[in-house]
Amino acid sequence: MAELFFDGDLSILRDLTIAVIGYGNQGSVQARILRENGLEVIVGNRMDEYWKRAEKDGFKVYEISEAVRRADAALLLVPDEVAPDVYYGKMDEEIRKKKFFILDFASGYNITYGLIKPAANTDVIMVAPRMFAWGILERHKQGLGYPVLIGVAQNVSGKAWDYALAISRGIGAIGLPGGIALKSSFEEEAFLDLLSEHTYIPLLIASIMAYFEVATKVYGASPEAAILELYASGELAEQAKAMAEEGLIEQLKHHSRTSQYGQLTRIRRYYEMIRDIVESEAEEIWSGEFAREFAEEKLSGMIMMNRLKEVLGSSDLVKVEKRLLETLKRGKLD
Ligand code: NDP
Repeated sequence: MAELFFDGDLSILRDLTIAVIGYGNQGSVQARILRENGLEVIVGNRMDEYWKRAEKDGFKVYEISEAVRRADAALLLVPDEVAPDVYYGKMDEEIRKKKFFILDFASGYNITYGLIKPAANTDVIMVAPRMFAWGILERHKQGLGYPVLIGVAQNVSGKAWDYALAISRGIGAIGLPGGIALKSSFEEEAFLDLLSEHTYIPLLIASIMAYFEVATKVYGASPEAAILELYASGELAEQAKAMAEEGLIEQLKHHSRTSQYGQLTRIRRYYEMIRDIVESEAEEIWSGEFAREFAEEKLSGMIMMNRLKEVLGSSDLVKVEKRLLETLKRGKLD
């Protein structure tokens, strides 16, 4: 059983100034909850809309290097692909001037693949929420915690795990019902996160697309009915919720016997095929091949990603879906 923690000691952060770098999805939510928990929080951002939003929310906002200069700890909450530029452009120099610093990441990617190599004076910790920012906020409003994976890459102070737990508590993950911190590592977090992004999520979307094509083009089914059946009715989301709450196989009890029989026999049919795909994707992630591929894509200005978005985003499925979702929102036909 993995090591689980349900609370942390916030008092070790009490005399520190914490800079939240990046006031986006995670940054805006984590900063607000840290402040609610009585900690001193400042925000570091470029001067633009996010800066103004942080000011409106009552934070002192500084240019990133100035925020780091004023802080004892920083939560680096910018997108993973820009974090190395932000770190080396605006943070590293300031951090090296200090006696000691605490640097927190919400994902393991940049440390795992050596894209950020923090200074030797720094405790390097990870508190990675297993939840979208809006989900964190929703649960926080209800007085609930949420799961995080925690890790330590450098433990200069000898207290890095305590800092990771304190930040987990500070951002409302633990110390509340439903909250757990699972002892993990930067490498494990990056691996698991990428593996789900490269396997079951694209496999689900690919099978939705293949289903749509076959059902509508080969068998003449109504495109709208197909999309409703696939995901627009919200049944898929309900099934995912039941999986989380009741278990992967246990949730099948909510389905008819025809459905249960069909699902169980087809899981067996597909399993070996899919397992081979998962194995080869895992190998690409583990060996760093994917990180190299993505670094090249980033250098190209994300050509492949933008092209694929354009091609898939203008498919027949998306055109029908757009009409259907608009109609469903209006609650009536055109
Ligand atoms: P966002 O995309 O919401 O981050 C936006 C922030 O990053 C803004 O403050 C933006 O400021 C800043 N930013 C973007 N580009 C640059 C740049 N080139 N230079 C300086 N600042 C920049 O990020 P998320 O909150 O989604 O992700 C933050 C971290 O949290 C990541 O490590 C991610 O993996 C992790 N995470 C995210 C989850 C989520 O719910 N999204 C869930 C769990 C973990 P501006 O553009 O104004 O400069």
